[in-house]
Amino acid sequence: MLFDSTTPETTRHEIKPLTRPVLTDPFGRDISYLRISVTDRCDFRCVYCMSEDMTFLPKRDLLTLEEIDRVASAFVARGTRKLRLTGGEPLVRRDVMSLFRSLSRHLVSGALDELTVTTNGSLLDRYAQELADYGVRRINVSLDTLDAAKFRKITRWGDLGKVLGGIEAARKAGLRVKINAVALKGVNEDEIEGLMTWAHGLGMDLTLIEVMPLGEIEPGRIDQFLPLSIVRARLMDKYNLVEDPYRTGGPARYVRVKETGGLVGFITPMTHNFCESCNRVRLTCTGTLYMCLGQEDAADLRAPIRASADDALLHRAMEEAIARKPKGHDFIIDRRGNKPAVGRHMSVTGG
Ligand code: SAM
Ligand code: SF4
Repeated sequence: MLFDSTTPETTRHEIKPLTRPVLTDPFGRDISYLRISVTDRCDFRCVYCMSEDMTFLPKRDLLTLEEIDRVASAFVARGTRKLRLTGGEPLVRRDVMSLFRSLSRHLVSGALDELTVTTNGSLLDRYAQELADYGVRRINVSLDTLDAAKFRKITRWGDLGKVLGGIEAARKAGLRVKINAVALKGVNEDEIEGLMTWAHGLGMDLTLIEVMPLGEIEPGRIDQFLPLSIVRARLMDKYNLVEDPYRTGGPARYVRVKETGGLVGFITPMTHNFCESCNRVRLTCTGTLYMCLGQEDAADLRAPIRASADDALLHRAMEEAIARKPKGHDFIIDRRGNKPAVGRHMSVTGG
């Protein structure tokens, strides 16, 4: 159990309880949620996320785990209550458990409400218990199909058995697992109900995601786009869906399925804009802060942390960045050009 004096040396940037003002954007939204992409690398190549032949960032450009801790801690000092590590695949980053371990001190101090992770599950069998030990309570596992051959096709390199084993390990470690599935036209649309009954049968909620136009990938994304309004209507033919006030601090809106008792979340950036309540910003593994998933504007936080051991420059850069957070994004799946709205892949900004 980590919540004791074993907190490691990487915790040098101790925070004091809110000695600086909470970060609030020009639209009055408090920034309370930081998502951190700890690596752009991954052991899968999901068709909607990456091309098969990806060029990854040189390792020298990456923030060290200590630097990630420093930036995350500065955000916690300014009112961030929730940290999510993502990627790429966060669990493939070498020694990433030491980052969970060091960040968990903010859970212990009460400055942070939640430390969590979004993972493809391939390494969960190895790390689930450690995550639980470091105060992680809920995790998101991305899984689009329960058919092993289809899983291999979607992820190109993935092994379904390993992911299912990882989910089992997570549940055994006491982690609450939420399944994230991207709804893909003609690929898994016939399986959504099966995924839902499987997840709910194991006490896991399911969140469905509309495919977003991020990064150039091989097949036309227009072919993959399946509006969740259609998925929802299909589910409603068979199930009673009751609007539910449940929120996780993310963009999903939930319904409870009367027949199964479980929740289904819908993340609908394409058909329904959720920007008005956006409390999130995203840090890449190179220290670039994106104020909106769907816009190009970004701020460099690596330069200020490397320029000075003191955090004053970092805080100034954070304040300037949040002052530029846009009102919202404008994703369009362009039927003629079929160009991505944003050139970077999801694995860069972190899903
Ligand atoms: N590797 C981890 C995983 O797969 O869970 C974390 C990173 S991944 C980029 C985070 C989430 O983004 C996954 O649930 C994935 O399905 C989703 N995602 C990736 N590319 C997407 C896209 N173009 N549109 C919508 N969701 C996408
Ligand atoms: Fe990797 Fe996650 Fe992207 Fe799939 S969605 S390629 S698992 S980063």
